[in-house]
Amino acid sequence: MVPDAAFLDPRFTVSVPPHITADTGMDVLTHALEAYVSTNAGDFTDACAEKAVRLVWSYLARTVEEGSDMEARTHMHNASCLAGVAFNGASLGLCHSMAHALGARFHIPHGRSNAILLHHVISYNAGLEEAGDFAACSRYVAIANMLGIAAGTEKATVHGLVRHIKNLMSKIKIPQQITDLNVDKDEFEQAVREMAEKALKDNCTLTNPRVPTVEEIETIYRKLCKGGY
Ligand SMILES: [Zn+2]
Repeated sequence: MVPDAAFLDPRFTVSVPPHITADTGMDVLTHALEAYVSTNAGDFTDACAEKAVRLVWSYLARTVEEGSDMEARTHMHNASCLAGVAFNGASLGLCHSMAHALGARFHIPHGRSNAILLHHVISYNAGLEEAGDFAACSRYVAIANMLGIAAGTEKATVHGLVRHIKNLMSKIKIPQQITDLNVDKDEFEQAVREMAEKALKDNCTLTNPRVPTVEEIETIYRKLCKGGY
């Protein structure tokens, strides 16, 4: 699947509807952030991931709001390729593993599955709800600082990053709860264990910065329900 050469022509994507632009744009952000905190990350994949995140930050909402804005669309097209180069070298992480299982079980598009999971996986990787130090925390802080987000402590800064991601999602009209995607809460609960087991075995989990247990993955899935428990 890796091409020798790629022609990046954003004109091919002008007629893509806003919700697909939003979903695929959040997938780009997920690719870049997961490559950045991957255990396989290096200087070259970091460079591509950092630029991709900057471009998504500046141009995703604009591209969704005005699909024919060719300047914004061109930058998003390039961001998508740069994030692809980053994860081709560094691989991905738990968000993609969980999105693969979630999307397959409930027929949710790939980008949207990643979008609704992304900030929960960031919180988990950085240990935002736990005491102690987590290796990925400082990596998210580096990305947050690059975007002008800073607070008194490392974890507060990552909280800020999470808040900005949630704001971006509401701006581009991506729901944050599984029940907003026409998924029945009971049916979801019944599927949680099986999805978590699949996600644990997914290749993307191998390069996640924090090694999860199946119970931890279940807990993250349950955060997608209204009043997540
Ligand atoms: Zn993806």
